Amino acid sequence: MIFRSPFPDVEIPDVGLPELLFGDISGRAANPALVDGSSGRTLSYGELAAMVDKVAAALAARGVAKGDVVGIFSPNTPFYAVAFHGILRAGAAATTVNSLYTADELASQLRDSGATRLFTISAFLDRAEAAAKAEGVRVSEIVVMDGAEGHPSLADLLATDAAPPDVVINAETDLAVLPYSSGTTGRAKGVMLTHRNLVANILQVQQLIDVGEHTRVLAMLPFFHIYGMQVTMNAALYAGAAVVTMPKFELPEFLRVVSEHRTDRVYIAPPVAVALAKHPIVDSYDLSPMKVLFSGAAPLDEELAAAVRARLGCTIRQGYGMTEMSPVSHMIPDDRDDISIGTVGVIIPNMECKLVDPGTGEEVGEGVPGELWCKGPNVMAGYLNNRDATDATLDTDGFLHTGDVAVIDADGVVSIVDRVKELIKYKGYQVPPAELEALLLTHPLIADAAVIGVRDSEGEEVPKAFVVRQQAAELDAAAVMAFVAEKVAPYKKVRVVEFLDAIPKSASGKILRKDLRAREN
Ligand code: ATP
Ligand code: MG
Repeated sequence: MIFRSPFPDVEIPDVGLPELLFGDISGRAANPALVDGSSGRTLSYGELAAMVDKVAAALAARGVAKGDVVGIFSPNTPFYAVAFHGILRAGAAATTVNSLYTADELASQLRDSGATRLFTISAFLDRAEAAAKAEGVRVSEIVVMDGAEGHPSLADLLATDAAPPDVVINAETDLAVLPYSSGTTGRAKGVMLTHRNLVANILQVQQLIDVGEHTRVLAMLPFFHIYGMQVTMNAALYAGAAVVTMPKFELPEFLRVVSEHRTDRVYIAPPVAVALAKHPIVDSYDLSPMKVLFSGAAPLDEELAAAVRARLGCTIRQGYGMTEMSPVSHMIPDDRDDISIGTVGVIIPNMECKLVDPGTGEEVGEGVPGELWCKGPNVMAGYLNNRDATDATLDTDGFLHTGDVAVIDADGVVSIVDRVKELIKYKGYQVPPAELEALLLTHPLIADAAVIGVRDSEGEEVPKAFVVRQQAAELDAAAVMAFVAEKVAPYKKVRVVEFLDAIPKSASGKILRKDLRAREN
């Protein structure tokens, strides 16, 4: 059974991303495009578009052309967007690198993607230089955006008199970006996304949200990850919004920026919702500017979300996606207050999906959990240098096998259960760790939690909870187990508890259960 989008298809023009965003900004040239949340420094749309052209011209003068790959290793700043769109405008593809990466990890992405140049900042130069020297890395030049001895700066690139190159983008086939998946379940994979993939997803989502020139978006999620890149940067710039950047997440600074820069649309991952629901300092800030809080990248529990809504009085929305879908496939539209905020809403325009029993391969219908398969113009061209992974993920009918278990209701509203591979199998029953994590977070003395399957003395897989206590809280393992046992079917009971100071999470906001599993061995 194929589930189709409830929305009519949107038209996807045959243009490259820079043209979609900057092709006609005449009506908004003086409006703010990017605002540095720390310094307040602002780039208008006119300045941004002019800088993008200059960077493209300077890159073209250095020989960068279609088919080339250029890396970006930088925290979010307004100049990230300048580098990003300059690279695409020159016809090259951008590979965006996790700011937390070590020199070795950076080198491996540069090597795998074949990047020939790298944009970075002076604070990251040690790692960038070490990576550029590593064996097999082809980077011949490092542009240090804020300047450093011996390297060109962004100002040097912007000083060019040359006109931007005349590149013809074939949106359907030309790669725009090579982001890497988050590496939550294993090694991060390079994802080949074309201009059409990115353009499509921006337009598919635009129909469902109220974002325009009146909007001030908080861009705290990293631009290197597809969610920050496409949703907080590109879709917002397409709509003409002001994008307020933050280099990293720190709760007090986040609260200050929301309140002082009056950002009305704030994109987060669930760990931020946990802090907004539970942290005492939240009450010291005026968060009334924040009208919509949008969560994605990992499961957001309904009760937790409702607690944030009650505390802050904002609208909460949730979306689902993955790097491989540029990234969004499902979301709760802005105007659908009737959809539960614990779900990921409905499938976006131009997409269809199926649910497939991972055991039997049979398609299932409403109300029955199955692996979510999705098809649409935003689905990747494939994994880079990884034919086996591509073949295992993209089938010959064009459906992407997400690896996530979902349930769809009679109204087409989708709930994500958990990743297929992370379901705990207790005596033949399946236990989704995400459900237990959400339940644990409802305990007032629990600040954070994660659940994995571990083997008991009989070799049976059982749920184990890692729990972070609220500051100064007295809570023991027996109390945690009793709390869960009271609320779930017996096979879902937590049978082992360990207390930690913090739950390991990725930069994109996901619980790193693989790191917790590694501790067990
Ligand atoms: P890797 O594929 O390298 O192991 P990853 O899958 O975490 O890492 P991303 O592409 O960043 O890399 O994340 C996509 C995944 O995030 C989805 O497959 C899903 O498991 C999870 N996800 C995203 N949004 C949601 C959501 N709203 N609810 C539940 N899970 C979500
Ligand atoms: Mg994945």
